[in-house]
Amino acid sequence: MDESILVVNSGSSSVKLALFDKHHQKKASALAERLNKQDAIAHINGSPEPIELPKGANHQQALQILIETFTQKELLKGSPIAIGHRVVHGGETFREAALIDSYTITAIKKVSSLAPLHNPVNLVGIDAMQALFPAVPQVAVFDTAYHQTLPEKAYRYALPKHCYEDWGVRRYGFHGTSHYFMAQEAARLLGKPVDSTSIISAHLGNGCSITAIQYGKSVDTSMGLTPLEGLVMGTRSGDVDPGLFDYLSGRGVRASEVHAMLNNDSGLMGLSGHTNDMRTLCELAEQGDKPAQLAIDVFCFRLARYIGAMTASLTHLDAVVFTGGIGENSAQVRQETIKHLGLLGLEIDPERNQQHGRQTESQVNHADSRFPILVIPTNEELVIARAASRLANA
Ligand code: ADP
Repeated sequence: MDESILVVNSGSSSVKLALFDKHHQKKASALAERLNKQDAIAHINGSPEPIELPKGANHQQALQILIETFTQKELLKGSPIAIGHRVVHGGETFREAALIDSYTITAIKKVSSLAPLHNPVNLVGIDAMQALFPAVPQVAVFDTAYHQTLPEKAYRYALPKHCYEDWGVRRYGFHGTSHYFMAQEAARLLGKPVDSTSIISAHLGNGCSITAIQYGKSVDTSMGLTPLEGLVMGTRSGDVDPGLFDYLSGRGVRASEVHAMLNNDSGLMGLSGHTNDMRTLCELAEQGDKPAQLAIDVFCFRLARYIGAMTASLTHLDAVVFTGGIGENSAQVRQETIKHLGLLGLEIDPERNQQHGRQTESQVNHADSRFPILVIPTNEELVIARAASRLANA
């Protein structure tokens, strides 16, 4: 048997696969997109050469074809030893990764109403892989699990208590796998044990969230009941006044339309009127495009406010960490954000900040900065692969 570990991330219309060897080195990846549509398509290892999928191919068909392709290319020989699945919502049931059995499946289904766009499609991926590899142990790794250490004062909303007790309305937090990895990597870079390392971790991709991590544990985070709360994101608004719903309903906009607007048409996209892509926005702003500049300004200001807010949850701070596509790549966003935080004694070193990515410099603060500022590439797939092999071997 092959000793590979497969990592599966199924989204609503796409599925991503990553294949790791037994030493947890990534050896292949694949992406199938536009699933259930006429123009479904897949690519392996980022190659421009597409893999043919049948018209309207679903998750199961795409996964089967991608696994066959891995096998033909001898990237996978026989069955993997473990399969790890990204599952978005684990509710209050899962504080860590779990071996997938009938109990786990039932529990994932039970919290599906909290993540209707994600959990059902994560289950489709699990079903498909169980059909393809019935004898291989499979493991669910939850985006929410790392935040189950939040104290009650951080996870409760100031709502009537039956909202929590009867309906589970509380802050759950997301991107937990990435924030967990930041805690591990920051500790490694700082040469400290994780359980004595405290950081503020900003994950800035299409979705954005920030987490306060005290001695290795998540103690506060910006996303809440759903991944809409908190920072400005690609197309999501982040925090708005909930009074907006009533105000707009008085203007004939239905709640479902407001919800769609906040999720799909807001954030960087809404403010700029152009795009949710930060790289494009930076280019447009450079050419004098005012709405693009405003989108960047609001993004950075909101982020800085949240960095400030997260210090209230910590008694100790070792570093502020940037990750995700924007956090890792945009020197401008890091610089504009930290500029607001002089009162906290945070100071960026413009040269080191620009160098990051070119010379894999990870520390971008000025020597006079009160706290280190780190840039660390995230690797959620690796965390899932490690959890899958650990639980499969247990
Ligand atoms: P996802 O949340 O979908 O995984 P990513 O973490 O890949 O997203 O982040 C995507 C974001 O990163 C996009 O806004 C993209 O423009 C931004 N990004 C990637 N490279 C750069 C860059 N060099 N400069 C600015 N933004 C960048």
